[in-house]
Amino acid sequence: MAIDTEHFKEKLEKEKAELEAQLSQVARKDPNNPSNWEPKPNERDVSSADENTVADGIEEYEENNAITNALEARYKDVMSGLDKIKHGVYGKCQICQKEIEEDRLEANPAARTCKEHINSL
Ligand SMILES: [Zn+2]
Repeated sequence: MAIDTEHFKEKLEKEKAELEAQLSQVARKDPNNPSNWEPKPNERDVSSADENTVADGIEEYEENNAITNALEARYKDVMSGLDKIKHGVYGKCQICQKEIEEDRLEANPAARTCKEHINSL
């Protein structure tokens, strides 16, 4: 049975919008590469801050960095899923080229492998 790409496209578009909203809290889009996000720099005035505040600022930046990396990885998966829909190659396992199970796509529309190859990439 052919995969209902319209249905998964909708899911991916929705997740993309959610990820962009979350990413915009902690990062900004790289103007030279729209699929790349940069963690927001610490905006506090470091020169007048005492040591504790500076340490907090650094921690906050590290945290933003970690969140950005996690969201960005997911964002790229989602974008790649949308790209595959555009090129008519959506829902194929990257290892065995077979169609990915529909319930797996339902759980993760950006899945790149079938259940059998879930840990193969
Ligand atoms: Zn496979």
